[in-house]
Amino acid sequence: MEVKMWRWLFSLFFFFYGVDKIDCSKTVVTIGVLLEDLSSQINIPLNSTIYKKNLFDQRAYFSTKMMQVSSTDTFEASLTLCSMLDSDLGVVAVYSDSIRTIPILESTCTFFEIPFLITNWKSPSPIKRDPEKVRALINFFPEAELFAKGLADIVRSLQWSSFIIIYENEEGLIRMQEILKLQELNPDSKQNNILVMQLGPGPDYRPLLKKIRNTTEDNIILDCNTNKIMMILTQAKEVGMLELHNRYFITSLDAHTLDLSYLNTTANITSIRLHDPKSDDFLNTVHRWELTEFENHNRRVPLDPLSIKTETVLFHDAVLLLTDTVNAMSIRPGINISPLSCNRTETSQDGFTLRKYMLINTPSMTLSGPLKFNDEGGRIDFNIHVVDNIDDTVIATSYAANNSLVLHRDYNQTMDAAVLNLQKITVIVSSRIGEPYLMYRQPSYEGEILTGNNRYEGYSMDLIAGIAKIIGFNFQFEITEKYGNYDPTERRWNGLIGEILEKRAHLAVCDLTITPERREVVDFSMPFMTLGIGILYYKGEADKTTDMFKFLEPFSTSVWIYTATLYLVISIVLYFIARMTPGDWENPQPYEENPEELENIWDIKNCFWLTLGSIMTQGCDILPKGISSRIAVGVWWFFSLIMTSSYTANLAAFLTKASLEAPIDSAEALSKQTKIKYGLLSGGSTESFFANSNFSTYQRMWLNMQQAKPSVFEASNDDGVQRVRNTKNALYAFLMESTQIEYVMATKPDLKRVGDLLDSKSYGIAMPMNSPYRSAINKAVLEMQETGVLEKLKKTWWEKNKEEPKDSEQDTGDETDSLKLGISNLGGIFLVLGIGIAMSCAFAIVEFLWNCRNISVEEHITYMQALKLELKFACNVFITKKRVKPLLSEASSSESEKNEENKNDSKSMIHGILQSAESNLNIVH
Ligand code: GLU
Repeated sequence: MEVKMWRWLFSLFFFFYGVDKIDCSKTVVTIGVLLEDLSSQINIPLNSTIYKKNLFDQRAYFSTKMMQVSSTDTFEASLTLCSMLDSDLGVVAVYSDSIRTIPILESTCTFFEIPFLITNWKSPSPIKRDPEKVRALINFFPEAELFAKGLADIVRSLQWSSFIIIYENEEGLIRMQEILKLQELNPDSKQNNILVMQLGPGPDYRPLLKKIRNTTEDNIILDCNTNKIMMILTQAKEVGMLELHNRYFITSLDAHTLDLSYLNTTANITSIRLHDPKSDDFLNTVHRWELTEFENHNRRVPLDPLSIKTETVLFHDAVLLLTDTVNAMSIRPGINISPLSCNRTETSQDGFTLRKYMLINTPSMTLSGPLKFNDEGGRIDFNIHVVDNIDDTVIATSYAANNSLVLHRDYNQTMDAAVLNLQKITVIVSSRIGEPYLMYRQPSYEGEILTGNNRYEGYSMDLIAGIAKIIGFNFQFEITEKYGNYDPTERRWNGLIGEILEKRAHLAVCDLTITPERREVVDFSMPFMTLGIGILYYKGEADKTTDMFKFLEPFSTSVWIYTATLYLVISIVLYFIARMTPGDWENPQPYEENPEELENIWDIKNCFWLTLGSIMTQGCDILPKGISSRIAVGVWWFFSLIMTSSYTANLAAFLTKASLEAPIDSAEALSKQTKIKYGLLSGGSTESFFANSNFSTYQRMWLNMQQAKPSVFEASNDDGVQRVRNTKNALYAFLMESTQIEYVMATKPDLKRVGDLLDSKSYGIAMPMNSPYRSAINKAVLEMQETGVLEKLKKTWWEKNKEEPKDSEQDTGDETDSLKLGISNLGGIFLVLGIGIAMSCAFAIVEFLWNCRNISVEEHITYMQALKLELKFACNVFITKKRVKPLLSEASSSESEKNEENKNDSKSMIHGILQSAESNLNIVH
């Protein structure tokens, strides 16, 4: 508002005081202007400044002598200058915009001691000049060496680790000399970090641009004529080099005159200016130029401040300095100007004095910053404003005087612009399949066809979807196999990092570890997960609690119960079989050929003793003689044999495993043994960690892993997990990242992590180096972290596929249970025992019946009577002796039978209690 008001006041002033009269007391001072094109833009400030000076200054009246000069013919240019010097009143100083003719014009002016003003870049002279010899030149363009240093400062502040310089001509290469020295600062870089290419004649620059595209370099410094910039950038866009990841630094000081919005690009273009076209001073000056045009020529020339070239601005300052100094010199004794002839050696009287004053004068209201010159007439003080085209703001200013660069980047503004660019495109996100980060989604119904991002699900997908929602961009997932490693043979990065470097993706996300090597070539977002390397191992092995009843472990509880029950049952069955089988009724006195009684030694105690002795593999000093009892005992022996050998073998296995447990409780322990192999995922950061470690333990481990046969390296974490599970006797451990181990432990309860983490690191989202959208991504990640979304995502995906322990596992609750021999493993032997016992029972019955038949034949009694008698003996557990020939009366009278039995019973009991000799007992009468 204020600015506008001032402008209007200014305009009114000019309107009412538009004086066009020469005060005769003033010295007429003519400024010689040699232009290649007389309609050049510099006319505007020239007219305006002179007009203003004439209006307000009382000492001198300024006029101009303008002539067209050849741009190529130096002889013609010198003739033009001669005719200018020889004109009516002579000239006080000469300005020329003809770059090629500068040397001849300069030497002519030096000869005549006339100040020679220029506003162009001029290469430093290779010849050391005599410091005593005064030169006519004053160059308002920054001194070449200082300007080159300023450019290098800016490139350094852009933090490009590598770039390509495209230059048009030798002068451009001289401007780049300080930038080229930046390579020396980074000699260790894996890449040749500065490439230099010449632009070529054009107008088709596509071959060169394609060549650059194939180098995968994103950062380009373009040093060429301003009028070629648009053409080059348009062609760059055609060959796909004006994308989000491309960055250009244009060294032309007139890049602001170009309408880059026409390119509609998301690329980052940085340019420089010597003035600030948005400053109030500049806007006021331009407005004054417009008014002067109107006053002088009665025409309205609307001037866009952005269309004012640097040359015009510098020329304005040159005229300002000249007129200011002339005015200062005109006070007294005044300035002497006379025409000079090239045919004579006469020189200007006050020319070099004027130049000298000009070099030390510091006029106000300059547009290109402070004016300060060295004795050579080179400008040594100037400011370079670095402008970001995304939002057309000055992001840095390089101050030549104090050799400093001040960054005043408004990061919020830059971020907004970067976000806008992201929103314009479909962001390509490179990722890899790996649980639970990214998995193929199962169709929710039969025949459902999944396309695009719908094909995948997982943590990475949700993470990017969350970021995309916050920033507001569209994205598309592309799958890559590897994480990303530098391949020295191919001299390129592979995997996700390669995708970023080769511009196939804007972002790369998965369980991608931020490593120093990767950080050198790509940028990472702030970490979204922290982790370390852990050891994945088989779960059972770590149970080191001392167990007094470990000896019970080889058999499951059910086997122990069955065995104990069978021991009881078999002993009892054996007892009855032995009573039934005639073979076990023996003559108690072997020397008596015809004994009256037979004795059965297989009372219940002996039966228990025999079965116990067998199962303990100790044997027994008495053995059955009957066929069926032998069958029963034989089968029991067989059972005992299998059971005891199974127990012994399994116990040995248990104890062996227990002894293996001890080494695996840390990486240190793992490294000191050779029995348990250990490996890791090849091509990942875990491999790099071991390969590059300086720590002796990890070096030893790395050496062991490399020498292991078969290879211990796995192509994926899944393969590693399977190997841990499938390797017999838990002889393989897998070094894996802790987040992954957590997931595996949730889904596979037989696995666990042992020991502490070996290191600490994080996962991040990778993106091209110096990505303008990095801050926006960081902000989104931070927001997701603060609102707990990241935590929730982790919980969701880590617990999604969590395996609930099965019932059987809950019963036993320990991994060692799976090693125990259960009834399913030993069912066969139980069956054999069952069949054998059944057979021996059947045999016993047959034997018994056959014996009854023999008795009935021998004793001439009925078969039923014999059967009854024998059954009586067999079933009466207290009787261990029986007569060889049964009494017939026993068979005929049931009453007497009962009495007899009672007597027998009591006697038998007495017999048992007293343990007296069999011969003294009169059991049956
Ligand atoms: N996160 C690792 C990487 O980015 C891969 C897994 C590993 O090396 O254990 O390379």
